[in-house]
Amino acid sequence: MITRRFFMAAGGATISIPKAFAQSDRPHFTLGVASGCPRPDGIVLWTRLAPEPLRGGGMPLGKAAVRYRLCSDQAMRRTVREGIVETSDAKAHAVHVVLRGLEAGRDYWYQFTYGKDESPIGRAKTANVAGTTAKLALASCQAYEAGHFAAYADIAAWAPDCVIHIGDYIYESGPGVVGMRSAQVGGFQATWENIRQHVGTETVTLWDYRNRYALYKSEPALQAAHAVAPWIAALDDHEIDNNWAADVPQDPWAQTPLEFKVRKLAALQAYYEHMPLEEPPTVNGVDSHLQLYGAYRFGPAQVHLIDTRQYRSDQVCEAQGNPADRSCDALADPYLSMTGAAQERWLLNALKSSKAPFNVIASQTWFAPYRYNGLNDVPHVNMDQWDGYPIQRQRLIDALAGVSNPVVLSGDWHCAAAMRIHKNPWDPKSPRVGHNFCGTSISSHCPWSLAMDAAKDFNGHLDYYNGDKRGYLRCDVTERNWRSEYRVVTDPRDSKSAVTTDVTIDTRDV
Ligand code: FE
Ligand code: CA
Repeated sequence: MITRRFFMAAGGATISIPKAFAQSDRPHFTLGVASGCPRPDGIVLWTRLAPEPLRGGGMPLGKAAVRYRLCSDQAMRRTVREGIVETSDAKAHAVHVVLRGLEAGRDYWYQFTYGKDESPIGRAKTANVAGTTAKLALASCQAYEAGHFAAYADIAAWAPDCVIHIGDYIYESGPGVVGMRSAQVGGFQATWENIRQHVGTETVTLWDYRNRYALYKSEPALQAAHAVAPWIAALDDHEIDNNWAADVPQDPWAQTPLEFKVRKLAALQAYYEHMPLEEPPTVNGVDSHLQLYGAYRFGPAQVHLIDTRQYRSDQVCEAQGNPADRSCDALADPYLSMTGAAQERWLLNALKSSKAPFNVIASQTWFAPYRYNGLNDVPHVNMDQWDGYPIQRQRLIDALAGVSNPVVLSGDWHCAAAMRIHKNPWDPKSPRVGHNFCGTSISSHCPWSLAMDAAKDFNGHLDYYNGDKRGYLRCDVTERNWRSEYRVVTDPRDSKSAVTTDVTIDTRDV
C-alpha cells in the first residue's frame, strides 16, 4: 500500500494524497437507507457507502467512519441518539446501528453523514405491543429482468408499520433474453416478457452478490419502501441458488458440496450487508449461518418470521419444484422438515405463549396444499412448498388449532391466493383452523399460472386466485379482523405504473 509517509520521504516538500485515498466526490449513499428488526425498545438502522455501486462499491480498502443521527421529529431537530460507527471493506462498507432503549410504538427519523455527504432521511418505527391496529405490507419475488418495482412506490405511499419480505430479494441468474418468451409449463403454453437484463454472470462470489444487490437497489421505489418503514426479512432460495435446501444446491452434479458452502457463505454475507439485520452471519470454517427467524409484535398481530431454507431437509420424490412433481411414499417420513427441529420447537413455544389476537407465520413458500391434477390420482404438488413436508405441516396445523386466529403469509409462487387452512388440509369439510394469504410477486413472472387456474376445482379450500398480476399484499389488522387487500400493478414495464386493489378479503367474513 502506498502511504502518506512514502510520499513525504520520496517527494520532498509537496505532499499529495493519492486520489484513491481522498474522499470521492461521487455520492456515497447510492443504495439508500433502511431500518429493520423493530423491537418494542429498539431498531436497526442501515446504509452502505457505495460511490460505485455496480463495481464492488468503489470505496478504498480500509476503514471509514459514518455518523448517524436519530430524531423524534421529521424535520430532524430533536436528536434522540447520535454517534459515529466504523465500517470497512470487510463488510462492503455497510453500516448497521443496533439501537436499544427507545420508546415502543412510535416513529423516529434518521440520517447518516459521511464527510460532507448526507444520506436521505428515513422513517423508523419501533414495535407496538399495546396498539389496537397494525398496517403490514407483504412483499416477495422481485426479478429485476421481469419488470419495474412500481409496487414498492405504492408501499412507500401507504407507509405501513412494517414491510415483511419473505424472499427472492434478488435472483442469481446471469443475463437473460429481453423480449417475449414462450414455453410448455405444467402442460400449458406459457408466455412472459423480460424487459431488461441482469448485469454480470450468475452470482457465485461475494463480489457478484454485492453487485447484484446494488443493481436491485438501484430502483428508486425499492429504496423508498426501505426508507418509509422498518422491514423484517428472511431470504428464500434465489438469494443463493434456486430451490436449495440447507447444504444441498438444486444441481449437486454441477457444484460440489464445498463449492456450494463457499457460495452460501458469500450469499449470506452479502444478504447481511444489504439488510437491516441485528447480527452478521456466523462462520465456522466453510460452514455459515445467518439468524433470520424470530417473533415481532405489531399491535394485534404477532408475526413469526420463519426460515424455510437454512435448516430444511432436501426435497424428496425427485422434486423439481414445479407443477409436474408427483407425491411418493417418501413424504411419509416424519423427520422431513422445512424448519429443522430447533426452529420448530421455538415456533411452537412462541405460538403457545402468544397473547396476540392474530398469530402470523410468515413462511416463504405456500403452506396450504395445492394439487394440479384430479382427485382420483396421487396428487401432483409442488414439493418445494409445504406439500413436500406434510407430516411437519400437520404437526403445525394441530398446534395452530389451539392458537388465536392463525394467519399464514406466503410468497415464492408469484401468484396471489387466499386459502383456508383446514384441520385436514386436503378436506375443505374438516374444521377451519386459519387462513393462508399468498402475495403475488413484486415483479417475477408466473409461467405456471394457467396450470394453477385449470386446477382450481381440485382445491376446495381456495377462495381467491390471480396469477396474472404483479403486486403485494396490504394487511390491515384490528383486534377483531384481518383485512387482506391484494394490490396489483397495472403495467410492470412502467416504473410509474398505477397500482390498484384487485380484491379485499376480511377474515370476519370467510
Ligand atoms: Fe420467486
Ligand atoms: Ca422462491
